[in-house]
Amino acid sequence: MVVFKTTSDLAFYLKNKKAEGIKIGFVPTMGALHSGHISLVNRAKADGLFSICSIFLNPTQFNDKKDFEKYPVTTNEDIALLLEADCDVLFLPQVSEIYPDGTENTKTYDFGYLDTILEGANRPGHFKGVGQVVGRLLEIVQPDTLYLGQKDYQQCMVISKLKQVMGLDELNIAICATMREADGLAMSSRNRRLTEPNRTLAAIIYQCLVSIQAKRDVASFAVVKKECFDLMNRKGFETEYVALADASTMDLLDEYEPGRQMVALIAAKLGEIRLIDNILL
Ligand code: AMP
Repeated sequence: MVVFKTTSDLAFYLKNKKAEGIKIGFVPTMGALHSGHISLVNRAKADGLFSICSIFLNPTQFNDKKDFEKYPVTTNEDIALLLEADCDVLFLPQVSEIYPDGTENTKTYDFGYLDTILEGANRPGHFKGVGQVVGRLLEIVQPDTLYLGQKDYQQCMVISKLKQVMGLDELNIAICATMREADGLAMSSRNRRLTEPNRTLAAIIYQCLVSIQAKRDVASFAVVKKECFDLMNRKGFETEYVALADASTMDLLDEYEPGRQMVALIAAKLGEIRLIDNILL
C-alpha cells in the first residue's frame, strides 16, 4: 500500500496510473476504521478496481465541537487494517491539503430539501461540510466508482445529488450493505465510545428497525413509531427521530405505502453518543 500525505504527490501518482488504464475505486472515511469501512475496500477490490481509501477527519462536518474533539483517532490500527485488506493507496492529508484556501473559501453545495430533514434538520451545517469535503476529494482523486455505506443513508442521497450538481455523469456510486455486530448494532467509529451498559442497549435501535420492517403489512406506522419511541426512551435513549421515507426521494411518509420502496431511519443519543441506523422495506 502506498501512503500519500499531499494532494500534489497523490495527483501525480494517479495521473501516471490512469495513463496505464487503471480504474479507481474510492472509499472516503474519517478513520477509526472497522469492518464496515473495510467491506467497502473489499468491494472495490472485488469489482476489480484500484482501491484508494482516504482518512480525513473533516472538521467542517461536525456541528457538535465536542463530537469532533472526541472522535476516535487510531491511525496506526487503521493502517494495519488497510494493509491486511490489501488496499492499494491510502490518502492521509492534513486540513491544509484539503482546504488550502481555508475552510471558509472552499466551495460548498446546496442540497435543498435533503438538507432540511432528519440529519439535515438535526445537525445544521453537517451536509454542507460533507458536500465540501467529498467535493474536494472527488476533484483530487477523480475516481471511477465511489463506495459508500448504506449506514449513512441520507448521506448517500446527498452525495448522489452532489454528483449531479458537480456534473460527474461518468462517476458510479456503489452503495454497500451496512456491516453489523452480532447483536445487530450497525458498526460505527463512535461505538467504541459507548459505555459497556450503553453498548448492550444500543442494539435496541436495530431491533426497532426490524420491527418497523416486519410490521409493514400488518400495522400502522404511527403506532409502530410510537412503540419504538416509547421503548427507546424508557431504556434511556434520547430519541431524535424514528422516520419513514421514500427510499429514492426521501419524502417523509406518515404511513406505510404498499408497493413503495421505503426506508426507515432512526437517530438517537445514548449518553453523549449519537447513533444512526436505517433499514430498507
Ligand atoms: P465514516 O468514516 O463514518 O465517515 O464512514 C466512511 C464510509 O464508511 C461511509 O461511506 C460510511 O457510510 C461507511 N460506513 C460506516 N459504517 C459502516 C458500516 N457499518 N457498514 C458499511 N459501511 C459503513
